[in-house]
Amino acid sequence: MLSRNFKEILKPGAHVVVVGLGKSGVSAVRFLLKLGVRISVSEGGRQENLAGDLVRWLEEKRVFVETGGHTSELLNSADCILVSPGVPLGIAPLAAARRKGIPVVGELALARDFIKAPVVAVTGTNGKSTVTTLIGDLLTGSGRKVFVGGNLGTPLAEYLAGAQACEVVVLEVSSFQLDGGGEFRPQVGVLLNITPDHLDRYASYKAYVEAKMSLFKNQQPGDVAVVNGDDLAISEWLAKEAAQQSPWPLRGEIRQYSSSGRDGVTAYLRGTTVHLATATESGEIDEGYELAGTQLAQAPNSENAMAAIMAVRALGCSPADIRKSLADFKPLPHRLALVAERDGVSYYDDSKATNVGAVYSALAGMKQPVVLIAGGRDKGGGYEMLLPLVKEKVRALVLIGEAREAMAKAFAGVTKITFAREMSEAVRMAGSLAENGDAVLLSPACASFDMFRSYSHRGEMFAQAVNSLGDCPCG
Ligand code: ADP
Repeated sequence: MLSRNFKEILKPGAHVVVVGLGKSGVSAVRFLLKLGVRISVSEGGRQENLAGDLVRWLEEKRVFVETGGHTSELLNSADCILVSPGVPLGIAPLAAARRKGIPVVGELALARDFIKAPVVAVTGTNGKSTVTTLIGDLLTGSGRKVFVGGNLGTPLAEYLAGAQACEVVVLEVSSFQLDGGGEFRPQVGVLLNITPDHLDRYASYKAYVEAKMSLFKNQQPGDVAVVNGDDLAISEWLAKEAAQQSPWPLRGEIRQYSSSGRDGVTAYLRGTTVHLATATESGEIDEGYELAGTQLAQAPNSENAMAAIMAVRALGCSPADIRKSLADFKPLPHRLALVAERDGVSYYDDSKATNVGAVYSALAGMKQPVVLIAGGRDKGGGYEMLLPLVKEKVRALVLIGEAREAMAKAFAGVTKITFAREMSEAVRMAGSLAENGDAVLLSPACASFDMFRSYSHRGEMFAQAVNSLGDCPCG
């Protein structure tokens, strides 16, 4: 692949088109203004949907804006096209520009040439936000000044636009961002798991696996790749690589973690203790990190803790500092959060579970029978992976949203199935199907956009419905 230097490409006077004017597109404009390039924006949405302040600011900064689509005329006049993560890289006008030799990249591609600090990048189908936040907390607790963002919170371009005063940059990265990542090279890369997701946007599961593995594609000797050794797709890829049958070789040092101790892993769990094999001058020692009494003691957060500990140890944080910050960690909302206990039933909000892998881990961790509320916008991966656990643990399934017919078909004969039209109805139904000691779990396995603004909106509606259960005359 042709190596590109973006400091050269984005020199004063160059014409850069930013595609997509969401949060990350606006940050990209701010960054490009600093470089003195000529900026245009191509936004698929309509002009009247843009905030007035934003339009005025862009005018003031002499940024040309096209709305309602992406014209080849504009895109083909660019020296570089910077694409926001929400815009598929495969759309026709971008493909045409790429064929003309114009670099079409996302913000990650700029990291190598514009970031001075070491970069830690976290990807995986599930657990990215949790692990990215935890790594940020562990580094901060060790006295490091960190930027935490990317796919979560603040876009990377916003950091690039600022003073860049951090000692470590911690990024959550999605597979879409990696697709546009060019020669992105994290000094520490963390890959948590790969299970079917986003198959509405990838040609195949294999293509999605390759996208995730590409986190390590540009790593060099001395870089560290932290990977989940229990994950099937990752293990298969590593075996192919060892047999020299992978599309590209790994050059960073692979460090694996596993829930069960076995040969070849750097970290493993015994009970609630993380054991980490660390090389010292006097030989290898076994470092212990106790998770009991912290909010990370249960799977999948115990796995997430292992990954985060390995990442920050690779950056030289001390075990004592790490132990203190583990104890202080607060999980993010809408990830298996206990909302309330009512009449002997526990209600959990796991609205962020937008794919089967996340639902699998939620069900696997449940000790009691579950009434599962699921459904929403289908993401194309199928639901087969959940069948054994649904059979074992789910007393009844309450389905909502566009995917409900397809899901009812997938789970037919496995458990009792009912349909609900809206969240409050789903919660009422689930409450009446649950028995004393059960859990009602919102873990949808689908995107939220058919019925809600976002996964957090869906979670809030769930919590609201749970909290008003007693108020309903229909019980
Ligand atoms: P992401 O940023 O990858 O979406 P989150 O930390 O926001 O990850 O969690 C998303 C969903 O995945 C939640 O339902 C959460 O309970 C679940 N989850 C968190 N960590 C893991 C993991 N290691 N394996 C499987 N599921 C996980």
